[in-house]
Amino acid sequence: MDIKEIAASLYPWDLHDEGVETCIRNLIEQVGVNSVYLVGIMHKEKRPLRGLYYPHNPKRKFYLPEDSRVYYRMDESNFSHTPLKPIYSSVEWLKGTDWLDVLIESARKHGLKAGCEISHTIFDAKVAMSEFPYTMQRNVKGEIVGNIGKLLCPNNDHVREYILALFYDTAKNHDIDFIQSCLILFHEGARTKVPNDGASTDRELELLLGSLEGGCFCDSCKAKAVEMGYDWDRIKQDLSRLYDVVKQSELHDLMEKKLLDAGNLTAAGFLLENPSLYQWLEFRQKSITSLFKDIYTRIKAANPKVEFRYNTYLKYPELAGLSFSAIKDYIDSVRESDYAERLGDVSQLVAKRQKLMKIRRGVGYEKDLIAAVDVRPTDQGQSNEEVLRTSVRLLSGYGVDGISLGHYDEATFARLQAVKEGMIDGEINLVKPGS
Ligand SMILES: [Zn+2]
Repeated sequence: MDIKEIAASLYPWDLHDEGVETCIRNLIEQVGVNSVYLVGIMHKEKRPLRGLYYPHNPKRKFYLPEDSRVYYRMDESNFSHTPLKPIYSSVEWLKGTDWLDVLIESARKHGLKAGCEISHTIFDAKVAMSEFPYTMQRNVKGEIVGNIGKLLCPNNDHVREYILALFYDTAKNHDIDFIQSCLILFHEGARTKVPNDGASTDRELELLLGSLEGGCFCDSCKAKAVEMGYDWDRIKQDLSRLYDVVKQSELHDLMEKKLLDAGNLTAAGFLLENPSLYQWLEFRQKSITSLFKDIYTRIKAANPKVEFRYNTYLKYPELAGLSFSAIKDYIDSVRESDYAERLGDVSQLVAKRQKLMKIRRGVGYEKDLIAAVDVRPTDQGQSNEEVLRTSVRLLSGYGVDGISLGHYDEATFARLQAVKEGMIDGEINLVKPGS
């Protein structure tokens, strides 16, 4: 099978600590990457994520990033329509350097594609909550929501304009081939409690009910929904009551109370009984689709050659408002960021296949599908070269257009080698476009 791209992500501190040339040379020599990208806006998350310490960083054992800092230069005049402005690093050895340009310069020298990732969160949550509380996503009870960090609502005009300015500026002022983003969309609510082997109808219902703990019910969402013709007060009232029922009960109580009907009530049946829930889910999907349309339009206005790649982060994107078939005209490619290799068990790799097929079904064959593979240790910090090698080999049967490694900082050379070996096993060949 031929693929077009093997990509790898790098963080600003990797470039500072190891040197950009060393990072890129290692990736080319070990795996043969033809594409690199900077995680240019990064959330607050300890690096390395899994292992205690970095395997090959010569300067430090670990790093704790600040929240949602921008690590490259922006033209502030692009942010004149929003009070939210980019916040840069205040770390002495990171600030003042345009790390995206540093990566691009080296990537071009080696003939590689270059990109930038705008990661999960785009603005410091503490600053947002104290200075711009009206921009925050809220659940049906008005509480601010979020997992990795408290989230801003893309339906708020100031937030929307800030997001669009980030994408526009990045595409306009840097010589990149693609912008990737795993921007967290609407908060998807509670994580599921029903085990994977539970009755599938119960699991579906629990997912649906879990979404009630997510966003968004902020004033901006209300205004948009009313404009679209939804009876927002009715929706909010119905869902608030449903939320109370869910929160006051444990799962087994829900089953006894016949809210979950021991496997005999489908999600379709439940939605038919609760039209407000359906309307709210539909409103979120329309909202996210319009966000993608705006981002795509703004990127192409800055530079039509820059590709927009969405990087999925959820097993059930529809619970965050994302429908792949709805956004397919507003993306150029999708990176499926399944990291099942971290479980260290070949039988768990089926999840990657399911997620890839789901995206392909939505976006069709005109858009590129990039499969992520996890080059980090397992959740228990153990080695998983064999699983990784198998996972890459299996990709040869999934019709993917590229492979994307997550992430170099935590990859041992043995795991990078396993990717290469998996490609040989699966007869996966990197082919130059047009050849
Ligand atoms: Zn909202």
